[in-house]
Amino acid sequence: MDLRGKTVTVVGLGNSGQNAALLLHDLGAIVKVTDSGDTPSARNNTKILRDLGIEVEAGRHTEGFIKNSDLVVVSPGVETDSQVIGWAKSFRIPIIGEMELGFRFCKGRIIAITGTNGKSTVTTLVGEILKAGGRDAVVCGNIGNSLCGEISRIKDDTWVVLEVSSFQLETIKSFKPYIALILNITDDHMDRYNNFEEYFNEKLKIFSNQDERDILILNYDAENLRSLKDRADSKVILYSRLKNTNGAYVKSGKIYCVSGAATKEILFLGDIRLKGLHNIENVLAAVLIGTLVGVNEDSIRNTVRSFRGLAHRVETVDVVDGVEYIDDSKGTTVDSTYRALEACDRPVILIAGGKDKHSDYSFVLDIVKKKVKALVLIGEAQAAIKKALRPSVNTFGAKDMFDAVSIARSMAEKGWIVLLSPMCSSFDMFKDYKERGEAFKKAVFMIKSSSGKAKV
Ligand code: ADP
Repeated sequence: MDLRGKTVTVVGLGNSGQNAALLLHDLGAIVKVTDSGDTPSARNNTKILRDLGIEVEAGRHTEGFIKNSDLVVVSPGVETDSQVIGWAKSFRIPIIGEMELGFRFCKGRIIAITGTNGKSTVTTLVGEILKAGGRDAVVCGNIGNSLCGEISRIKDDTWVVLEVSSFQLETIKSFKPYIALILNITDDHMDRYNNFEEYFNEKLKIFSNQDERDILILNYDAENLRSLKDRADSKVILYSRLKNTNGAYVKSGKIYCVSGAATKEILFLGDIRLKGLHNIENVLAAVLIGTLVGVNEDSIRNTVRSFRGLAHRVETVDVVDGVEYIDDSKGTTVDSTYRALEACDRPVILIAGGKDKHSDYSFVLDIVKKKVKALVLIGEAQAAIKKALRPSVNTFGAKDMFDAVSIARSMAEKGWIVLLSPMCSSFDMFKDYKERGEAFKKAVFMIKSSSGKAKV
């Protein structure tokens, strides 16, 4: 793809759009960028681009700006049925996403990781396993720095560990990872897609261009993924917590990986520090990839043993007056909250709510009945969650995070757990899930101080 002298318009100016624009500039294209928002970070990005002579339309999109482009590159945050993309279609301008652009200039071998939940955890762990195993690995994509931003660092022998979201898959054309992994596909983003099937099918695009030289890894324990093996042209490898497979599995408390004709014992389940059955699945997927890349089992074991997981994912914050406070602010889907509750072995006060993604909250009803003593709700989704769960559990409304933690504390008995696992995104009250998790941690610190036990 030769873009020299071609006019390319980038839509959206977050991290992805910015990196796409910079890559296009390096490739000799005439780059233009349009962004409807006017956030401080977009303003900062605008300045950097304008200093390079790139034309930026900020605070709105206009038809005229996009009209004479040879190519449009879309950021994942921009919906493909938005007006601005409609204009590009009406002018018959080819449209690709930022990840597709990066793929076309990526020399390394791509390991693409998708799923509704667990992407960042597995992407990070795979990156650590490969690096500890002496491989040149670049971790990027939806997890943080976009693929376009890493292109200059990627060489022929680099393993590109790429976290991939459904939004990014919406705008691929030829994207073809050497290894594709699907962790799970459960209810999410019903505010962006018309139905679950549409969302499900977007996720499947991760292997749509693979051929028999490529590998598709599927979680056998996720029932709706099992049958996909018949739809792939690539070699399909399965992992499971529940049964022996041709990839990675658990037997008598140990994880095994099949490697060619041999089966290798990798580690004991007790080597895993992360809580919950879902994290056994995550580790299975990651060690399987490590084995496929050829990292030896001692190195894989050591990396898993020292991996403490990421912040805001079922993370114990503190124990105050005998009550454990767990931050799962990244639990933004009903399945992630289900899995967080599954990981709790004692009675729970659950703090949930936030920006409603039109999820089916009744998905957690049974486990809530079993484990949750009271539900404290925050944010816009309060009414919807209450409607789905209320007859089975006492619910309380809170005005902010401190209020929620205080209410939870007033009810929690010694030995119980207070779990923040919202089932919703955070944007109604916070900048992102990190800010929400930090607010929870701060509230826990404050109640600890007031109980006279803070180490000052
Ligand atoms: P993602 O990048 O897909 O959002 P994360 O690793 O950031 O995934 O985890 C997001 C949330 O999902 C957290 O609440 C975490 O505890 C939960 N989670 C992690 N792995 C899984 C899994 N395999 N299945 C279900 N939930 C998971």
